[in-house]
Amino acid sequence: MTDGDEGIAVLKEGYVGASAITEGHRRCSRCGCRLSCYNSDSRCGGCQRVPAVLPTRQPRVLPEVWANVGVQAALAARDFGRLCALVRETSGLRQDDMATLTGLSQPFLSMLETGARRLTNIDKIIILLDGLGAPVELTGPMLRPLATAPGDE
Ligand SMILES: [Zn+2]
Repeated sequence: MTDGDEGIAVLKEGYVGASAITEGHRRCSRCGCRLSCYNSDSRCGGCQRVPAVLPTRQPRVLPEVWANVGVQAALAARDFGRLCALVRETSGLRQDDMATLTGLSQPFLSMLETGARRLTNIDKIIILLDGLGAPVELTGPMLRPLATAPGDE
């Protein structure tokens, strides 16, 4: 019983000391809330569960998309609307992700996918394929942007 009593006495002493000296009170380095005296970390329990740097969602076309027979057929048929829809669906992307990747507007991409618009401008086709990261083996060298200047890495 003496052991238990001593433990409580120490805890009480520590607690009183901490509240009496407000400036000495440890605060969460992230949100600034008061840290529990049992918390030896510099952040509160809630903040410890939050990653220091929130991962930003970066849209990305999966490389295996280009092995998809439907994607290859759409590209061979120059059906860029179907190509966009297939690339988007197989990569789990949204139309605004596609807009971010290609620099083409989301309304335009939408019309392209539904067939309301067709992509005929060679420069736009090149931008689209480059943005999606289409491999040169599939597009052929004609549909690739001009090689970047040396040293431009
Ligand atoms: Zn916190």
